[in-house]
Amino acid sequence: MTARTDTRVRSISHRSLVDRVTEELQRAILNGDIAPGSTISIVELCKEFDVSHIPVREALRRLESEGVVSLRPGRSAVVASLSADDLSNIYSLRKLIEADLVVKATPRLDAATLERADAAMKEYATIEREASRLAAAHHAFHAAFLDDVLGTADRRVLELLWTSSDRYLHLLLSDLDKGPEKTQARIDEHQELLELARAGRTEELRDAWVAHLDSSEQALLQALAARDK
Ligand SMILES: [Zn+2]
Repeated sequence: MTARTDTRVRSISHRSLVDRVTEELQRAILNGDIAPGSTISIVELCKEFDVSHIPVREALRRLESEGVVSLRPGRSAVVASLSADDLSNIYSLRKLIEADLVVKATPRLDAATLERADAAMKEYATIEREASRLAAAHHAFHAAFLDDVLGTADRRVLELLWTSSDRYLHLLLSDLDKGPEKTQARIDEHQELLELARAGRTEELRDAWVAHLDSSEQALLQALAARDK
């Protein structure tokens, strides 16, 4: 087969290579193997992955669109730092957008959706230390409520905000207060959201949802301050 450079789309094998590089970089950044604020050399990454610079650059571009890294002129990228301002900014946007969506979503919640949220919450309650499973179950819980009312733009913006807050959760999990009381309090907050949804109490659900985002933000800010000490 002759190599063509003028094709409209790239071959699947190239795409899946980019997927794999993106996934691996994301994993290394989320678990702190590549530290926040550190510089990544594209040349070194190519050596470590044993691939050309094309998939590495493409992977970094994707991560840049998620706010995880910034590409620098030349051959490097910088991993986004964790900061209290950034964290508060993410949460204030989430409160604005999600409060509005919860009001829209509540009257439409059916038994199957609430069942999905309930299953996600039960799973969430059993996970202690595995950040990616914890984040996935937590994400599934909140997404179950909002899925039906998300427009394309809402979804894009929320995914970005969720990914950004998940990064804080991943990196700060070991610093979060994991005492039994705190853990139970977090499960109770989700349980309360579910009960308000079952009862169709829209306004109370909205307020509890915002209060829940507030307490998640406070817990992460405390963990961030403890880590910086
Ligand atoms: Zn939650």
